Amino acid sequence: MNGPDADFIIIGSGPAGVSAAFPLVAAGRRVLMLDAGNDAGSQEESRSARVLGADLEALQVDDGSSPKLQTPVSRGILERFRGNSGITGSGFTPIGSLARGGLSNIWGAQVSFLDAEDIADWPIDIASLQRSYQRISERIGISRNSNSTRSAHGEPVLPLGATAAHVLHRNTVTKPANGSFRLFPAINAILSEARPGRAACDLSGDCLYGCPTGAIYNSRQDVLQLRKSPHFRLLDNMRAVSLTRDAAWTVGTADGSSFSAPRIILAAGVLGTAALLANHLPIEEQGLRLLNSPTLAIPLLSPARLLRSSTPTHSLAQLGLSLRYGDRPSDYVTGAIYEVGSLPAQSFINRMPLGRRAGRAAFETIGGSLLVATIYYPGDQSRSYIHRDATTGKSLTIRGGFAEGFDIRADALKKALRREWKRLGLIQLPGASLAEPGIDAHFAGTLPMGAPGPFGTSADGELNLHSGLHIVDGSIIPDLSSKYITMTIMANADRIAHRLAETEAKPAS
Ligand SMILES: Cc1cc2nc3c(=O)[nH]c(=O)nc-3n(C[C@H](O)[C@H](O)[C@H](O)COP(=O)(O)OP(=O)(O)OC[C@H]3O[C@@H](n4cnc5c(N)ncnc54)[C@H](O)[C@@H]3O)c2cc1C
Ligand code: SF4
Repeated sequence: MNGPDADFIIIGSGPAGVSAAFPLVAAGRRVLMLDAGNDAGSQEESRSARVLGADLEALQVDDGSSPKLQTPVSRGILERFRGNSGITGSGFTPIGSLARGGLSNIWGAQVSFLDAEDIADWPIDIASLQRSYQRISERIGISRNSNSTRSAHGEPVLPLGATAAHVLHRNTVTKPANGSFRLFPAINAILSEARPGRAACDLSGDCLYGCPTGAIYNSRQDVLQLRKSPHFRLLDNMRAVSLTRDAAWTVGTADGSSFSAPRIILAAGVLGTAALLANHLPIEEQGLRLLNSPTLAIPLLSPARLLRSSTPTHSLAQLGLSLRYGDRPSDYVTGAIYEVGSLPAQSFINRMPLGRRAGRAAFETIGGSLLVATIYYPGDQSRSYIHRDATTGKSLTIRGGFAEGFDIRADALKKALRREWKRLGLIQLPGASLAEPGIDAHFAGTLPMGAPGPFGTSADGELNLHSGLHIVDGSIIPDLSSKYITMTIMANADRIAHRLAETEAKPAS
């Protein structure tokens, strides 16, 4: 009988998978990474191909979703997932990827850090998470937007856009209507100084279409680093379709290959991991609870900035905000404010109560003074469930929804935000919209760390029901705060991999 193919098989090359791989490889463990994607899409493409698409697919009618999801690269990634993952949605848009680098190919790169209160119910301590936050931040490179060339704490900075800077200034000279309102410069995973293989941000503002310089973090960049280690092997085009256990775990792939290891690390994204485990979990009629963040988009106008031209900056989040709406520790929303100038005109025009021509003329005149706020609620405001298809038992359907009383809370929050916009000299434009569940792409909580029972996992992400199967993506995050989640997914994967590297069998010789 052949020996195992590796000490650990990691399924997925997204932010979670690479974050688990680094500590294991550094400890000399043999890691085999299987990914459904490949190197395609990483070649240098002309700007017109990135913006319009090789087949001019960007000229298709706007489907009303976020502009970020309508670029050619996003459409390609999401359509492949839709076609091959076996996951459909009912009142839910299933966002996932079968591409090298996962959703980090198209993410918004905004970074948040959880604090001790956010993880009070988790079976881990904040110090261990903070150590991992530090390691991940150093590895991926983050920078804060700022008016000055160096932040007060000496951390890397990128220039704040003029309209965002104006709003931030207004926030410092007027008192919030609601004492819990916070507005601050956003932190993004964008390089302000070049590193090997990645240039510093050139402020061209093309961020929505895939950063050509590599300044925005994408876990593909980490795959290239990992491949330099003799302990690491990546196999592309290996879509895992089955997991079976004998002496070791065996992963079967769509092309009929199989690979075995004593421990499997699942990093296929929350939806991809659920699909892989569907046959191993007792998902009965009520389904598997999935946490997602209900999301609101609000267009805003800064009259003070009308007819002023925008200043060079990136087009990812400029400002972050938070606002409490209830008494429980998790009852707060988190948001981001973007300058609209560099977003595709069409997606804004379609949301305005004007004809196309008038809408375009208005956009050209006022584009530099427009902002969009995206507001995220915590996962307990969602009611989404993953169900197995009753007839075939093979495919999964996700039914999306909102917590009871969500609409009342959302109306109260919108009123509270309106008061803050007014104070900041902003006019809320018509067209605010609540996204269909799933569009947020902030998923967690299907297999929570520390929970008892068949859907729970240990603090090391190991399934209660199946020893040797560890999960490191958002599935095991026990509760979903409204903060941006990916930095925490990566830090948690790093934390788990450090523990596995310390406690597992001897390093490979
Ligand atoms: C438009 C958009 C904007 C976003 N903006 C932000 C943001 O600003 N801040 C933030 O924190 N988060 C953001 N996110 C969310 C972020 O992208 C995800 O949280 C993050 O990518 C999750 O990482 P992951 O590694 O767990 O999963 P993924 O990135 O989904 O990676 C999954 C990996 O698994 C592989 N895979 C899946 N199934 C299989 C299979 N069966 N066999 C083999 N391989 C498989 C895929 O090929 C991929 O490599 C955004 C997401 C989107 C879509
Ligand atoms: S502006 Fe955006 S696309 Fe251009 S280098 Fe900076 S992060 Fe990349």
